[in-house]
Amino acid sequence: MAEREGLTATPTPDRGKPWRSLTDRFGRTITYVRLSVTDRCDLRCRYCMAERMEFLPRQDLLTLEELAELADALIARGVRRIRLTGGEPLVRRGIVGLVEAIGQHIGNGLDELTMTTNATQLATVARDLHRYGIRRLNISLDSLDHERFRAITRRGDLDQVLAGIAAAQDAGLAVKINMVALKALNEDEIGTMCQRRSKSRPFGGVKPGHRVTCRGEWREGVARGPLPPALV
Ligand code: SF4
Repeated sequence: MAEREGLTATPTPDRGKPWRSLTDRFGRTITYVRLSVTDRCDLRCRYCMAERMEFLPRQDLLTLEELAELADALIARGVRRIRLTGGEPLVRRGIVGLVEAIGQHIGNGLDELTMTTNATQLATVARDLHRYGIRRLNISLDSLDHERFRAITRRGDLDQVLAGIAAAQDAGLAVKINMVALKALNEDEIGTMCQRRSKSRPFGGVKPGHRVTCRGEWREGVARGPLPPALV
């Protein structure tokens, strides 16, 4: 509960009040913000982090209360969609309280609250995330092969991630898989990952190292397929 965690949401100001919207230096109005809640992660993906990471001192991070206040201010300035990211957001203690605090704005200034996660901690919090307003998750998953997944993440347990994805779906959360295509590491799995992609968003011209985003519903245990012709 937000109150229990000491987090409260500031009421969004009336639309009639003179809050200036956020604009960048090209005059574009900013309505979407990614809020990084931590630089820490429980994995060490080879393309992202060193095996021995030095993270920021905790006192240099915004507290959860400050993050909630920041979200309030952003919403008051016209931000309509917020995505929580990291590092890995679910390793931040008290993150569910922050989701609840920000989620209180949904329908009252905020259109959508989403999260990008590696799903390792998802099984225990998926229902709370849905309860407090999240409806969509982006989940990083680079391989469906246990050994390969561990090799890429240096420490990850694929079963734990798949359990997190299943829990998310059971809770009613829509899941989008983000896969980083790595030459000679997981390129033969791109077809499998994209098997469920929407026909309206075909992909092509993907090069090694590019991020492949496949829209579509995740199905556990989809059969492996060959590399799609578009990528050969
Ligand atoms: S799960 Fe994401 S944040 Fe964590 S090491 Fe991998 S890519 Fe980086």
